[in-house]
Amino acid sequence: MKFADLHLHTFFSDGTFSPEELAGHGARLGFAALALTDHDSVEGCVRMAAACDAAGMEFIPGTELTAEHNDTELHLLGYFLDTQNRKLLTEIAKFQSVRQNRIREMVSRLNELKVPLDVESVFALANCRSPGRPHVARALVKAGFCKTNDEAFERFLKKNRPAWVPKAKMSALEGVELIHQAGGVAVMAHPGLNRTDEIIPALVEAGLDGIECFHTKHSTNAAERYLEIADRHHLLVTGGSDCHGFSKGKPLIGTVKLPYDHVKKLKSKAGSRGLQAETPH
Ligand code: AMP
Ligand code: ZN
Ligand code: FE
Ligand code: FE
Repeated sequence: MKFADLHLHTFFSDGTFSPEELAGHGARLGFAALALTDHDSVEGCVRMAAACDAAGMEFIPGTELTAEHNDTELHLLGYFLDTQNRKLLTEIAKFQSVRQNRIREMVSRLNELKVPLDVESVFALANCRSPGRPHVARALVKAGFCKTNDEAFERFLKKNRPAWVPKAKMSALEGVELIHQAGGVAVMAHPGLNRTDEIIPALVEAGLDGIECFHTKHSTNAAERYLEIADRHHLLVTGGSDCHGFSKGKPLIGTVKLPYDHVKKLKSKAGSRGLQAETPH
């Protein structure tokens, strides 16, 4: 049997592995294919493609976009994207600057709370264009203001905690369209985590191609529910570990093994989409 992990992060967003380290773990675990899905970034794809190639694995370029629909936050995975697509790169750059400004705001809140964290220490630790709350958490631990990342989230960074700042998001319908025009396939990430079941029909209407049924945080029951939903709406099925390296405890790669048949179907959808997409360079 061949398997894939289609949800992985590197240090180009809030993971801790380099693309080469991640590909190394994938190869050791016997994966046939890996996709890179860094938050609001496709920057790691070139290195990941080379590393997968060297290790004899198939590589699928991707990203994970934060979006919203009717005030519900959801994450959209884009697969088989043209990582040079101009509109995609422009939009991603916009959301990267939203992320950077949000870090500044969260650090000023911390400073108001008499936690004198230096914003530059967060950017230095993140060392990427797409920083997020896990970097603030790690900087808080490194500077000795919190004992663990979990404590940082619990005390300060979780939604509605004192240093939390809402993030401006693109609309889900725009997100689906953005992925499509870059020749990609649009998939709703971990619906069980975001509790986005009610908005699935609206997204299907907007052209959503698939749903992430298998995810580290989906129970067997949840996976089965999403498989039924995928079947009902004729959606592709994907799955992945959402590994962030050591950013959230232990590396999760290897905990979800998606049968390769699903990758074949995803690829065939991307093939038909790629022919339609306008990708001016
Ligand atoms: P952001 O995109 O900046 O809002 O950060 C989201 C990231 O923070 C995702 O990778 C989440 O999995 C992670 N995250 C959210 N809540 C927690 C938590 N309580 N503990 C650890 N990581 C979290
Ligand atoms: Zn993340
Ligand atoms: Fe996510
Ligand atoms: Fe993720």
